[in-house]
Amino acid sequence: MTSTALHDLGVAQLATELRERRVSAVEAARHFLARAQAHQNLGAYVAVNPEITLAQARAQDAAIAAGTAGPLAGVPIAHKDIFVTKDFPSTAGSKMLAGYQSPFDATVVTKLADAGAVTLGKLNCDEFAMGSANENSAVAPVGFDAPAPVRNPWATDRIPGGSSGGSAVAVAARLAPAVTGTDTGGSIRQPASFCGITGIKPTYGRASRYGMIAFASSLDQAGPMARSAEDCALLLSAMCGPDPDRDSTSLDVPAENFSAHLNDSIEGLRIGIPAEFFGEGLAPDVRAAVDGALKEYEKLGAKLVPISLPRTQLSIPVYYIIAPAEASSNLSRFDGVKFGHRAKDYTDLVDMYKKTRAEGFGDEVKRRIMIGAYVLSHGYYDAYYLQAQKIRRMIADDFQNAFKECDVIAGPVAPTVAWKLGDHGNDPLADYLADIFTLPGSLAGLPGMSVPAGFGEGGMPVGLQLLGNYYQEARLLNAAHRLQQATDFHLHRPEGF
Ligand code: GLN
Repeated sequence: MTSTALHDLGVAQLATELRERRVSAVEAARHFLARAQAHQNLGAYVAVNPEITLAQARAQDAAIAAGTAGPLAGVPIAHKDIFVTKDFPSTAGSKMLAGYQSPFDATVVTKLADAGAVTLGKLNCDEFAMGSANENSAVAPVGFDAPAPVRNPWATDRIPGGSSGGSAVAVAARLAPAVTGTDTGGSIRQPASFCGITGIKPTYGRASRYGMIAFASSLDQAGPMARSAEDCALLLSAMCGPDPDRDSTSLDVPAENFSAHLNDSIEGLRIGIPAEFFGEGLAPDVRAAVDGALKEYEKLGAKLVPISLPRTQLSIPVYYIIAPAEASSNLSRFDGVKFGHRAKDYTDLVDMYKKTRAEGFGDEVKRRIMIGAYVLSHGYYDAYYLQAQKIRRMIADDFQNAFKECDVIAGPVAPTVAWKLGDHGNDPLADYLADIFTLPGSLAGLPGMSVPAGFGEGGMPVGLQLLGNYYQEARLLNAAHRLQQATDFHLHRPEGF
């Protein structure tokens, strides 16, 4: 096997090559490290450490030789910089955590390492995962000495999506065969859609949040991003499972082999099409690609069923009350005392708090902390936070009603393709509104995917969103895999990569 072909292999193929010792883990790691370096201009990686990576790879080569290798033995992956790692710095895209070194690994990181994965490094993201374009990162990517935009490899003047922008770019540009991401309100699905890759957010609670730097704890969920559903299934199987002692909202549901049902027939699968996802505001190019994918599903024997998710529009105000409320509480730990940045000059404790937080947090994070503190404050709690919680429940109920008539729900991931860097300028609302199709599933805690479905304006990728009922990850992956066997959208690659 020639090393130039290594980055064309998916996780499943690469794992086989490694297991059968046609390629070594060290060779694979070197190959991807070299690619990451050659494409530093994309801004995907924020930390690499070849010494650590190669040591991990050597250990996997030894395990393979000894016959003790795990299912992902020697497969190089990279982690969104929201997961804490003891061997690489962990910043959450924030100045507040510049240079922070965690004494432990996140559960998801440990589980993937236990399965044999080798860590290439850490990936850029919006500060504390707040954003839809990766334009809120305050961290300098590898090869830069100041923060620089993360660029979409399909058009480097466009955003990659967010908040897992570095993750999506690393996969799309073949700087890693697969990566981790996190999704609070769409941050796996939307960048996957914008970069033409596949991503899945499991049911809330299936993957442990331990060691995921917290944004909004009732929403945050980890998941894999890769080129295909088959590859996502391999990673997801390693990532999930109960972690009751360390994450109080971890579900007591055993890990599952998510690859087991990939090839099941989808004859008769009822795909719900929510009217509210296809109304005003959906760009015609996105609509055309999504419609094309739905036609493929009909050819595969699935039935399209019209459904309604009547509170779709309310998911924006509800999410942008609940997520900031939780963020304001979670981020109170960054006070200059426990970890991270501390202001140099201050007069007393309160002054130290103020200066530390003023210096350490970026504008979007400050905005959310202020909104969150406001909606939780006396006199406003009932009017905003409590009201939002009630509507959140109704949004979840709407899904349960819909799932009486269908097995999965399909629609667009985002109203448009990836926009140009800087296009939303200083208008955070423009970013918030673009989250409309991912927020409902997040608020309900449902599993969701983005699957490449075609191309739109400027040749930019379009993703199809699939949402399932609780614990239906295997069914989503099955539906996605069948589509990927019938189409080749996930095999297209950005020019030059
Ligand atoms: N765009 C959403 C936000 O800014 C979602 C982010 C996420 O899922 N982490 O909050």
